[in-house]
Amino acid sequence: MQKNTESHEYQADTNKVMGILIDNLYQNKDIFLRELISNANDALDKIRFQMIRDPTTTENGPKELEILIDVNEEQKTLSITDTGIGMTKEELIENLGRIAKSGTSEFQKMLQSGDTNLIGQFGVGFYSAFLVADKVTVISKSNNSTKQYIWISDATSRFSVVEDPRGVTLGRGTSIILHLKDNCYNYVDRDRLVSIIKHYSMFVDFPVKIWHFKDVYVTESKNEDAADTDKIGKEIFNDDDKDVIEEGSEDGKEESEESDEQATKSKKKSKKEEEEDNEDYEVVKKRIWQWVQINDKKPIWLRDPTEVSESDYDEFFMIFYKEPKPPLLHSHFNAEGRVVFNALFFIPSVPPPAEKTFEQTTRNIRLYVKRILVADEWNDEILPTYLHFVKGVIDSNDLTLNVDRDRLIKLNSLKLIKRRVTTKILSVLRNMFLNDPIKYAEFYSKFSGNIKFGIVDDPVNKQMLSKLLMFYTSYSPRKLTTLDDYVARMKKGQEKIYWIGAPTIDEAIMSPYMEDLLDQGYEVLFAIEPIDVHCFEQMDEFDGIPLSNPEKKDPSQTDEKVQDVSGFNISQRNFNRYVRWFKRVIGDKIDTVILSRRLHTTPAICISTSYGYTASHERLLRAQTVHDSKLDENLIMNHKILELNFDHPTIKDLLDRIKKNHKDPAVIEDARLIFDNALLAGGFQLTDSLNFTKRVFRMIGKSYDIDKEVADFEEENK
Ligand code: ADP
Repeated sequence: MQKNTESHEYQADTNKVMGILIDNLYQNKDIFLRELISNANDALDKIRFQMIRDPTTTENGPKELEILIDVNEEQKTLSITDTGIGMTKEELIENLGRIAKSGTSEFQKMLQSGDTNLIGQFGVGFYSAFLVADKVTVISKSNNSTKQYIWISDATSRFSVVEDPRGVTLGRGTSIILHLKDNCYNYVDRDRLVSIIKHYSMFVDFPVKIWHFKDVYVTESKNEDAADTDKIGKEIFNDDDKDVIEEGSEDGKEESEESDEQATKSKKKSKKEEEEDNEDYEVVKKRIWQWVQINDKKPIWLRDPTEVSESDYDEFFMIFYKEPKPPLLHSHFNAEGRVVFNALFFIPSVPPPAEKTFEQTTRNIRLYVKRILVADEWNDEILPTYLHFVKGVIDSNDLTLNVDRDRLIKLNSLKLIKRRVTTKILSVLRNMFLNDPIKYAEFYSKFSGNIKFGIVDDPVNKQMLSKLLMFYTSYSPRKLTTLDDYVARMKKGQEKIYWIGAPTIDEAIMSPYMEDLLDQGYEVLFAIEPIDVHCFEQMDEFDGIPLSNPEKKDPSQTDEKVQDVSGFNISQRNFNRYVRWFKRVIGDKIDTVILSRRLHTTPAICISTSYGYTASHERLLRAQTVHDSKLDENLIMNHKILELNFDHPTIKDLLDRIKKNHKDPAVIEDARLIFDNALLAGGFQLTDSLNFTKRVFRMIGKSYDIDKEVADFEEENK
């Protein structure tokens, strides 16, 4: 064997990560069983799926799909064997030679953040074997190879692979043999293993068996010559005893004591009693070794919800999804109708890392058809992207099994499932919103972005989603408020729901857009997060009440270009002259000038045209764009409307000075300064802020009558 052994180096980082893993998980060693059983389960799922397409798959290998656990007390080894898909030599090298697919860099990031609570969530799977073993031997036989191979590693930087000199012993599948570390010998205790595996196998739909003894009582003839043991022992042994180790029977000692007692009771009632009295017979305890099934129940999602306890759901969630905390909520239901299916969903209490929030692909949903796992990786075929944080299982008998994944995705029944599941999740959320506001607040603090993104992404469910929204408002600037509550507070005669965008709540409160709305006693919703703006822009109404944003010229107002100046103390002709003057002086940036009917204390403000980008939308574009030189150019083309507060002394004075000498450079300078300030007041960003600051500095000089001095100083020190 040594002669043929190939030695390989682990792929970059594997060794390092393995070390970190072992250091961080030393208190939580048991999870290696979760990981290895989960791998065995996956391997069995794969072979079961293959069997559907090709029934000859199991012809040359074991027919039974199962996981077998055994220990060797003398050699201090523990083995986990499955009759799953197995691995070829190449697969052994590729799959076990590098740290799992889930991604080393994210794993590293998590380690750097110091929050190693989440360590179990990473696909560190197989390597967890080294938590308890200083040497691991993997024997594997795949249908795609005629040979069986052995992979061996002692957790150094190398592993070796060799053809099994014994030939094919497994038939098909994988056997993982852990050579236990000195301080981990307790894993050879079968009862201890049973109790851990019971815990970790509640989702496994294949028998998990352990080679275990069972004490039975048999009546034997005292006569040594009578070799045949009377099998009446079976009758007096506990009736309930199947080949399954029941809950709470981990302690073998207790079990045998109980059995002793029961045996005695039964014995009293037994018809064979007399035989026992017979001097020639005696009842003796016999130890029988056999494969005993550890997991005795259906997978949790197929059980009747009334029979599953809260803690079972929590446990399942944490084990199945490698989650550090119980979920916020679960929903377990049986959908009837055109497609019948069972579904179990969880809303996690720990959100995914920010960069994964809107991940296109998710492995959070497993689809089983007739109990066979057919897919566990989705784009938005089973849940819309904004609900990708939801984790769960769908099990249906109504889908055809004999189709490939792409055809499955196109199936109408899958679309029906998606529709049902989406509505169900939204109604579960609405239920939490109505009945458990504290829990909902926790949910919203983690997943509000998803709900808002849903408004943009899912027009069909916009209504339902809008009922889940909460925002800060002028009435409630420090505590999120629901739109239902906003509507309940609306003033008599208020016809619209108002919202404005701002980078912070304080800026929203101070925004000039608020002046008139607050004066009229209207509550205003604040769009603080970039996604809020998108969300409001998409919403256009809530409960039939239109939404309105004062950052934009109201399209219902008359002509975009020419404003009706009735009510202002100025003739239309003179006003038009001013408009032409401003356009000449300020140039392209301006679309038109209007006189304000809403500004109170602010002299001027820039707003967007009804077809242009609002200040909030511009901010959003900037936030989303890392670097795009075209963006600035495009935004310059986003012409603004200059809205002047005609009664404000600053504006009155400016208009007077324009009238007196429209060519005066100082007037032109001031008009430009007012325009730039109006841009800022409107929430826009200046494209040439340096120029602006220069002008403000100069103006300060002017106001202190030292402008000449400043100019000279700057000239000298140029
Ligand atoms: P993950 O399961 O997250 O991919 P692991 O490190 O647990 O990461 O396993 C790496 C790969 O090794 C698996 O994706 C699978 O292809 C293969 N593998 C592990 N255990 C088994 C097994 N018992 N049978 C077949 N393949 C296995």
